[in-house]
Amino acid sequence: MQKKKLNLSIKVLIGLALGILAGLVLPAEFAVTYVKPFGTLFLNLIKMVVVPLVFASIVVGTCGLGDAKALGRLGGKTILFYLFTTALAVTIGLVAANLFPMGRELGFTMEAVTNPAGTSIVDTFLNIVPTNPIKALSDGNMLQVIFFAIMLGVGILLCGERAKPLESVTDALAEVMYTLTGAIMTLAPFAVFALVSPVVAVNGPEILLPMLGVILTVYGACLFHMVVVYSGAVGGIAHISPIRFFTEAAPAIIFAFSSASSAATIPFSMEAADRLGAPQPVRSFVLPLGATINMDGTAIYQGVCALFIANAYGVQLTLSQQIMIIITCTLASIGTAGVPGAGAVMLTMVLASVGLPAEGQAMGLVLGIDRILDMARTTVNITGDIACTVVVAASEKQLKRTEN
Ligand code: ASP
Repeated sequence: MQKKKLNLSIKVLIGLALGILAGLVLPAEFAVTYVKPFGTLFLNLIKMVVVPLVFASIVVGTCGLGDAKALGRLGGKTILFYLFTTALAVTIGLVAANLFPMGRELGFTMEAVTNPAGTSIVDTFLNIVPTNPIKALSDGNMLQVIFFAIMLGVGILLCGERAKPLESVTDALAEVMYTLTGAIMTLAPFAVFALVSPVVAVNGPEILLPMLGVILTVYGACLFHMVVVYSGAVGGIAHISPIRFFTEAAPAIIFAFSSASSAATIPFSMEAADRLGAPQPVRSFVLPLGATINMDGTAIYQGVCALFIANAYGVQLTLSQQIMIIITCTLASIGTAGVPGAGAVMLTMVLASVGLPAEGQAMGLVLGIDRILDMARTTVNITGDIACTVVVAASEKQLKRTEN
């Protein structure tokens, strides 16, 4: 078992290294036409299982918690951890961008701000409740799927004996999905190769260099958040050494980096949390929730980019405006879907909250390097989910300590 795990991590790492090398030598057109489809095929396979997996896993997780009181406690802790670390993440992003100001030299002029009408914060929260759960499932609207699954789990608990058959069926569905996912994941090293090489081939130096400051700041702040905040949380609360934490999380981290999708990384995160000792009810509840609402990397990116865009237009953001950014980013991260590019859409909402243009030259520059930034932010997003899962499991005294 130990050998198999190690093999997957190493194989995925080799896939990443070879993918980067291939991206450097392959012509962009070749990589996009002939290599990328294999990555897309793998993502489609994962997406095929992810909605039933999340649904069944959360129903089973909720039932496994035993009673509504435990659910409330666990849910409360989870949401608190997610919100707190996300607020911390934006703050780190903003501090980094204040320390290394970028974009002033651009000197763009701001025309009248006409921001597209996005979804308001109130709507984001109202939309969590699906008026049609079947549609939520078929649309793959994760937040709604999660809400419905928790309600169904609570319903099963309240019904007791008579609802047992439904619990068993969902349990079987979850098992089947885990098994299928396991089979699909054996292809992960190839998928990582096929996902990464086109990104490297397409993003040549001419695209990256002008925005190097933004890229380095986002990557630096992301690394800082992972190393300091997550190591601190898992070390301080769960008593797991950072080295063990990151080693076990490695396949998930590399896959998130390659796919830029928290949702597609769920199966990898589940395995990582399992290896770190989080029991099934906790991980099947906390992880899919995190992949959907916990976006620390996205929050860092939004903080840095908001400041970059303000600088590009020569706008000096006041302290209260920066606090406004912290609040909007934290709330916006809940509504951000765990798919590539979602964070950029939510950035427009953050910009609107402080009167910055969400369309135009500066945003165009940010969008040009979105995939590169997305890889870093997704990596942080899912690492935060795994960290939260072990921290919550430890605080519930449910962390298995077999490998410590
Ligand atoms: N791609 C990110 C994720 O899946 C979301 C984002 O675009 O920031 O976590």
